Amino acid sequence: MVVSRFAPSPTGYLHLGNARTAIFSYLFARHHGGKFILRVEDTDRERSTKEFEEMLLEDLKWLGIEWDEFYKQSERFHIYEEYAQRLIESGHAYPCFCTVEELEEERKKAEERGVPYRYSGKCRALSKEEVEEFKRQGKPYTIRFRVPDGRVVVFEDLIKGHIAINVDDFGDFVIVRSDGTPTYNFVVVVDDALMGVTHVIRGEDHIPNTPKQILIYEALRFEIPKFAHLPVILGEDRSKLSKRHGAVSVRNYREEGYLSPALFNFLCLLGWSPPEEGREIFSKEELIELFTLEGVNSAPAVFNKEKLRWMNGVYIREVLSLDRLVEEFMPFLERAGYRADKEYVKRVLQKTRDSFDTLLEGVERLRPFFAESLSYSEEAMAVLENQHSRDVLELFLQKVQEGQLNSQKVKEIVKEIQRELNLKAKDVWHALRASLTGELEGVGVDILCDVMPKEKVVERVIKALTLLG
Ligand code: GLU
Repeated sequence: MVVSRFAPSPTGYLHLGNARTAIFSYLFARHHGGKFILRVEDTDRERSTKEFEEMLLEDLKWLGIEWDEFYKQSERFHIYEEYAQRLIESGHAYPCFCTVEELEEERKKAEERGVPYRYSGKCRALSKEEVEEFKRQGKPYTIRFRVPDGRVVVFEDLIKGHIAINVDDFGDFVIVRSDGTPTYNFVVVVDDALMGVTHVIRGEDHIPNTPKQILIYEALRFEIPKFAHLPVILGEDRSKLSKRHGAVSVRNYREEGYLSPALFNFLCLLGWSPPEEGREIFSKEELIELFTLEGVNSAPAVFNKEKLRWMNGVYIREVLSLDRLVEEFMPFLERAGYRADKEYVKRVLQKTRDSFDTLLEGVERLRPFFAESLSYSEEAMAVLENQHSRDVLELFLQKVQEGQLNSQKVKEIVKEIQRELNLKAKDVWHALRASLTGELEGVGVDILCDVMPKEKVVERVIKALTLLG
């Protein structure tokens, strides 16, 4: 059975790049009817926090990623201790009593000689008795993995192809710190092996770690999984996507009113090409069906925020059901301080869902439908202050008194006013628009008259007239 995993460290918000890694790993498992594991890598006690962990899980759930098993490394220290012990017993690891100062000294010497630093391996040679003696004296120590000399580690990456790395420069690396906490390269192997992970799918920044991990797999006689390293995501300036490029966390986009299926769809196309060229909108189910690692491009993907906006707009306009769109929209309205019932919101969105690309933008644009009292832009005020605008509004009030108001009716009324006052259509519409929306652009007066209760329309016009004195 295929088993893949996502192994985030809870040291910050879920970054778009990590979210994409999670999505690819998740889709891969689902595509093969396998198992998907979420493992929180919180061995770094200083940088990991409970808050980040909670937000991470929340963001993943929001994105629509479901896991079959969940682990936290901080709850597995006893397991890592046992395996560190095994490595010591088999001679693959040893305690190192070198002090920070001694190591610093070594580092300086290497620098002076202009060679890359690696640990000298000084403590390799300690006898059992010496080790016991140091331990009795209470000397702090790390545990180091003994890197074999002259080894070239080779693996076939499912995305990057053949990779060969000479491990001579690594030096014996630390697998357990002096405070007893195990390091990433060690625990990742123990966990992936014990959890039966068959495919390690992660960012290409981990390629240099992979040979170290393979050495540990070998030392513990674990079966080595397949590796698939995903290319980085770049900003439009071709540097690695980071905060400099604006919002980069999933949470950010969620707060801006991007929809989770749209973001899921978009991230999936960042570096993966569907078999059918030209098509871009896919449901999660379709992506599960279609996703393969062969479709992942080995070259970096470029993040294009405009494209994400566009795709989000497509989801708002066409993909989401109206009811689901209402559900998504309600919290944004509330956060902006508007109160409205669902039926009303539904009627508004039915007519306006094609006019914005994010929910936040929607709330801003649809303000005239929800605001208790309007504020007027300078341009709108200028229009209202024209004498003919006052005449238009007064005549409008007379004409709406009878019958229902809707887009058809308002168009007829505008024609009549135009004729009676001998004005251009534009002047009539402008006056109405300024009084009903407080702006000269944005939502259409006809749509507003279709959806808003008539009393409200009348009230706004009266308010504008009062304002004019
Ligand atoms: N905790 C590591 C990270 O967030 C996981 C890397 C891996 O998947 O092995 O980068």
